[in-house]
Amino acid sequence: MCARILCLLAAVVLLTNRSQAADTPPNIVIIFADDLGYGDLGCYGHPTIKTPNLDRMASEGIRFTQFYVAASVCTPSRAGLMTGRYPIRSGMCSDKRRVLFPNSGGGIPASEVTLAEALKAQGYATACFGKWHLGHLPQFLPTSNGFDTYFGIPYSNDMDRVPSAPKGRNSFWDPKVEYWNVPLMKDKKVVEQPANQTTITKRYGQHAVDFIKQNQEQPFFIYLPHNLPHVPLFRSKEFQGHSKRGLYGDVVEEIDDTVGEIMNTLRDLDLDENTFVFFTSDNGPWLPFKTHGGSAGLLREGKGSTWEGGMREPGIGWWPGKIPAGQVSTELASTLDLYSTCLLLGGAELPKDRVVDGLDLRPALFGTGPSPRESLIYYRGEQVYAARMGPWKAHFITQGAYGPPAREVHEVPELYHLLHDPSEKYNIADEHPEVIEEIRKLVAEHQKTVKPVVNQLEIPLDK
Ligand code: MG
Repeated sequence: MCARILCLLAAVVLLTNRSQAADTPPNIVIIFADDLGYGDLGCYGHPTIKTPNLDRMASEGIRFTQFYVAASVCTPSRAGLMTGRYPIRSGMCSDKRRVLFPNSGGGIPASEVTLAEALKAQGYATACFGKWHLGHLPQFLPTSNGFDTYFGIPYSNDMDRVPSAPKGRNSFWDPKVEYWNVPLMKDKKVVEQPANQTTITKRYGQHAVDFIKQNQEQPFFIYLPHNLPHVPLFRSKEFQGHSKRGLYGDVVEEIDDTVGEIMNTLRDLDLDENTFVFFTSDNGPWLPFKTHGGSAGLLREGKGSTWEGGMREPGIGWWPGKIPAGQVSTELASTLDLYSTCLLLGGAELPKDRVVDGLDLRPALFGTGPSPRESLIYYRGEQVYAARMGPWKAHFITQGAYGPPAREVHEVPELYHLLHDPSEKYNIADEHPEVIEEIRKLVAEHQKTVKPVVNQLEIPLDK
């Protein structure tokens, strides 16, 4: 009798748990590499970098071939992901300073509704492990912007270089931890300086695994922005000489390994069918760093430019049972859309008192319909350099990423058909003046919605 009652009770508990699971919004994990190029993963065609875990994630989920970030450098790109808005709207881009520096006094404005704030309001446990780069002063840090906890280097791993380090790029070719006095923070406290960058990738991954284990009972959101493979390149002992691609390959393969650890943890805990994982990078490869920078594959140029190599990135989504396995999507999508999509998955509404540029990607992810995205604006700093409309891309201004060719304003923009010519080699502006007119209208409409705001990147530290 007693046993029967216990059995019944157990069944009730099981059923209750199940119904909670059905009602519970999904866990969300966003893994964000730094300066990883479109061509740097096995599943995106790299011939010697091995990324079995990301390749598996793609084969079990969706791999986008036209996935974009909001800017071609770190700070504005991250602002786009965290707010769902082109960074011009939050003041997180500048023509004078391309990113935030340790001597910057600005950061992500409190008025923005960050992805973490929106999900936290829905009952999510929230964590950021990695490179923040949206302001290193206390009021701008992750724990002031919706994250319950933070562990990471608050800006780029090549900042805070010590005066005794080799000058210029010489310090990068054989990098030593002590050349960069970057802080490692836990919440708002510096816990290590200089951060031991050789173990940083592994430690970020371990923090994510631990957080998943500790937060199985409620939905969680983990934002995991790796500091690497941004130069200077570091990897743990275990990954030294791991890759045929050399040091850069070692670093990417270690990141891939942490992805595997996270996926295995989700599977082991039976959380895989209720967790949406997305992997991408903040901007294209930093090409002046030669073999220490990555590859944009067949795309033109890299980090810092508004050519495709600067802003088109690997984009891999995974959610077993929800995202059909093995999709290769040519739909247009952006990190701006990740914001909106994650809010909707989490049961939140999109902010109505401001322009949100992100769109709902769920149909494209779940294989039930097309992506709603039909256009993209390419900013460099505060200026529109290019715009995409369907397959077409017009460049109104062109400029080398970090040096020549000089900035050039085109009276007749250069026009490329990105489906036929993904490398942007053949300017066909003369043949399609009507397309250029349409793109001009699109840009004018967008610009009407942009209001002047305080430029956060130009605020000095002492202000
Ligand atoms: Mg970057």
